Amino acid sequence: MQFVDERLVVMKKIFLALVSIFVLLALCGCTTAFINAPDRDLNKNMIVIASKMPHTSEAPTAVPTAAQTFFVATATPLPTIALQATDALKTQEIKTDAPKTAIPTQTPYVNDGTVKYVALTFDDGPSSRATGRILDVLDAYDSKATFFVVGKSNPPNDDSEALKKTRWDLMNRAVRLGCEIGNHTMEHKHLPDLSVDEMTYQVEGVVDIVKQATGTSCNLVRPPYGDKSQLVYDTVKYPLILWSIDTLDWKTRNAESTYKEVMDKVRDGDIVLMHDIYATTADAVEMIVPELINRGFKLVTVSELFRIKGIELEAGKFNRKAY
Ligand SMILES: [Zn+2]
Repeated sequence: MQFVDERLVVMKKIFLALVSIFVLLALCGCTTAFINAPDRDLNKNMIVIASKMPHTSEAPTAVPTAAQTFFVATATPLPTIALQATDALKTQEIKTDAPKTAIPTQTPYVNDGTVKYVALTFDDGPSSRATGRILDVLDAYDSKATFFVVGKSNPPNDDSEALKKTRWDLMNRAVRLGCEIGNHTMEHKHLPDLSVDEMTYQVEGVVDIVKQATGTSCNLVRPPYGDKSQLVYDTVKYPLILWSIDTLDWKTRNAESTYKEVMDKVRDGDIVLMHDIYATTADAVEMIVPELINRGFKLVTVSELFRIKGIELEAGKFNRKAY
């Protein structure tokens, strides 16, 4: 019996020892450690794999493990999504920019008194002596003018193809710059001295030439010398345009004098008479245009001037100014 009792005591001690160890381990949290061990190992592996993922979009060179494939599979669509988003933005931008600004056929003007307008006009050309230089100035200052052309060159009796081409080219350039081509008759004759048929030829001949040369219509007439008569009123079926400032450039042939005539007299709505057949007139224009702009004037064509001022031009009537 003593032997059995001794064995029972030993077993009891072992049991108590085991219970103590278990309790001790439980207190240290080792139980939890054992239970969660697999998850911790998985998490550890995931962190390691993630750290090996390439940070760029370049394809990995090594064959990926199953776990790496999962990450690659979830990572690769991202650039695609980003690209699609970028494309969508681009498309939206294009749509936003789609409405294009229409090129205006005529510059918009204000007529509230804040801007002054003047129409420079040039008679007897076009000529290689001055018209090109005048167009250079107008082009440089974004300005316009009206050229009352004669059908036959000045001096007359030169019907060469070379001269014809020069004149047509100058008219074309003027039109492209937004200038107006007016009618100064075919041969610069005194209209009151002519019959109805002769007068009609003098006017309609130029209309045909301007149409051939530039493709545009020629709607204003300036009778040579400013001559007028009842027969002129009745026969010419276009508005007749004279001037309010006569520079006398044809008489003085002096640029300073021409410049002074304009600057001493010019006011809003004026029509200025000059001639684009003299180099001295071109010299004057190089001074006149920038100074007019400096004084707050906008340089427009005769038709524009009357439209801006709300004055209707009528056939067979003389107009000297737009005020
Ligand atoms: Zn003339």
